[in-house]
Amino acid sequence: MTMREIRVGPFAYEILWDAGEAAKLAVEMKESALIAGVKLRDMQIVIDPSFPDDRTRNSVLHEVLHAALNAAGLNLDAEPNGITEEDLVVTLTPWLLMVIRDNPHLVKYLQRGGD
Ligand SMILES: [Zn+2]
Repeated sequence: MTMREIRVGPFAYEILWDAGEAAKLAVEMKESALIAGVKLRDMQIVIDPSFPDDRTRNSVLHEVLHAALNAAGLNLDAEPNGITEEDLVVTLTPWLLMVIRDNPHLVKYLQRGGD
């Protein structure tokens, strides 16, 4: 696990492989446990490396999509809205494309649990 940074469009997120930080973030988010979480203000994605690789890979991509929605300015929790599936797909597509293009190390990690 040497992945240290993931770019989401213009933003570079530091990757913290740290069970203690993940546990702290879980408390902040009022969750019982957290495999991974994104700290938007701190520009960090925190991952608990003690979980199985298949779980962490899924959670890393999950947090990347949260970061992409934030970068795109789409905050679905903030207010009632009429966001459709098409809106969500149209919004996420260029961000996912940028993430894949800009992070070959992330793509390798997602494919095979490498670095
Ligand atoms: Zn989430």
